[in-house]
Amino acid sequence: MTKRTIAEPYKIKAVEPIKVTTPEYRAKCMAEAGYNTFLLRSEDVTIDLLTDSGTTAMSDRQWAGMMLGDEAYAGSRNFYHLEQAINEIYGFKYVVPTHQGRAAEHITSQLRIQPGQYVPMNMYFTTTREHVERAGGIFFDCIIDEAHDTSSKHPFKGNVDIAKLDRLVAEKGAEAIAYLSIAPCVNMAGGQPFSMANLREVSAWGERYGIPIIFDATRALENCYFIQQREEGYADRSIREIFKELMSYGEGCTMSSKKDNLVNIGGFLATNNDEFFLRAKEMVVVFEGLHTYGGMSGRDMEALARGIEEMVEDAHIASRVRQVEYLGQRLIDAGVPIVEPVGGHAVFIDARGFLPDMPQDHFPAQTLAAALYVDSGVRSMERGIVSAGRDPETGEHRHPKLELVRLTIPRRVYTNLHMDVVAESCEALLQQRDSIAGLKMVYEPEKLRFFQARFEPLA
Ligand SMILES: *Cc1c(COP(=O)(O)O)cnc(C)c1O
Repeated sequence: MTKRTIAEPYKIKAVEPIKVTTPEYRAKCMAEAGYNTFLLRSEDVTIDLLTDSGTTAMSDRQWAGMMLGDEAYAGSRNFYHLEQAINEIYGFKYVVPTHQGRAAEHITSQLRIQPGQYVPMNMYFTTTREHVERAGGIFFDCIIDEAHDTSSKHPFKGNVDIAKLDRLVAEKGAEAIAYLSIAPCVNMAGGQPFSMANLREVSAWGERYGIPIIFDATRALENCYFIQQREEGYADRSIREIFKELMSYGEGCTMSSKKDNLVNIGGFLATNNDEFFLRAKEMVVVFEGLHTYGGMSGRDMEALARGIEEMVEDAHIASRVRQVEYLGQRLIDAGVPIVEPVGGHAVFIDARGFLPDMPQDHFPAQTLAAALYVDSGVRSMERGIVSAGRDPETGEHRHPKLELVRLTIPRRVYTNLHMDVVAESCEALLQQRDSIAGLKMVYEPEKLRFFQARFEPLA
C-alpha cells in the first residue's frame, strides 16, 4: 500500500485573514521593493515562505500559558517550568535562558574558545560562525563532501567526516580544538540530517581526545524524524526517545527556540557542565538579564516550556516534515528542478536548472523569487550569487555553485492547499520561463547585501 495521508494533528481555532491582491498590484509592490523579497511589506504577501524562524503558530495551550506569566524580576515560576521541560526532554541539567539563539552562541563562544583554537562544524551557520570568529576561534568544516553536492541523494548529508577531524588533530593537536559544534538538520546544506550512527562515532571520537560536543540544536527535532524514518533500529522508537538519545551525546547545546520549539521568540543554553554553567550564569546577567529570565518575559518562557512539551509528539513532527516533503514532491511531479533529498524545513528550487540560459550575473534566483511573488504572492528568498557577496580581495561577485530559491515552511501555519498554490505557481512560471528576463543591481550595501540590495529588470 502507498503511504497514507496524515492530516494535520490540530483543528484551526483562530484565523488570520490574508489580503487578496492582483498580479498588477504585486508587480507594483515588487518594483517598489527593488525586486528584493526582504523589502516587501508582510501585509502584501499571500503565502510567506521567507523563513521558518519565529513564524510558528502557537497552540491554544501555549496561548493559555501566556496568561500565566509570572513577571517577577527573579525566580519566575515560568522559568522553573522551562527548566523542568528542558531537563526532561533535552536531558540537560542546567539551563540559561537567552532572548534568541545567537545570544547563547555568544556566551558559549566567549567562554569556551581560547583565541586561535579551532571549532569544527558540520558546515556552518552565519551567526554561529560569526560568534566563533569574534571569540578568536577558527571555523573548520567537517561535513561530508556529499553535503556540498546537490546531485547527491545521500540520506544523511549532515554527517560528519571523521577523517577530516583526524587530519585536524594530526596537524594541530587535540588541544587546538575548543569543542565540536554539531548542528542537526544542517540549515545551510538545505536542512539535511545526520544519522545516529554517525553521531555515536563523533561522540566516541571526541571522548578519545577529551573534546565535547556542544550542539547547535536548532532543528534537532526534524533530524530525529529522519532518523526514525531512515535509520535501521529506530522505526519503532518514539521521537521523544530518539530526541533524548541524540542529546545524550552532547555536553550541552545552544538553541534558537524560534525553530523547533514552536514559539515566536526565545532561546537558551543548556549543559551538564557545572563550571560552564556557573560562568554562563555570570555572563548572562551582563548581556541578557538575570539568569532566571535572560531576555525573555515570564509569559514567553511559559509558552516556550509548553512548546517544548508539544514538539516531541510524533504526530506533530510527522505532519511538519511531511508537509515539506509534500511540497517537494508536487514540484518534482511538475518538473521543477529542486535539491534532493528534500530537507526538514524547506524546499530549494535550483534556479540554474529553472532558467538554464540566464547568466549568473543576471541573478537567476533573485529573478525567480521576484517572479514567483508577482505570479502568486508567494514570498521566498534568494540563496545564490546575491547572498554569496563579493570576494574581499578581488572585489568581484563570488559565483557560488548553488543558485537557489528557498521556500521555507513555517510550522503549523499553512495547509497543503497553500502548498498546492505554491507548486502551481512554480509550474506556471516554468512554462513561461523564456519570457523571464534577469535583473541588474542598482543599490548594493557593503555587508550582507542580500537583505537590502535593490534591483531593476534588464530591459
Ligand atoms: C536561527 C539559527 C541560529 C540563530 O538563532 P536566532 O534565534 O536567530 O538568534 C543558529 N543556528 C541555526 C542553525 C539557526 O537556524
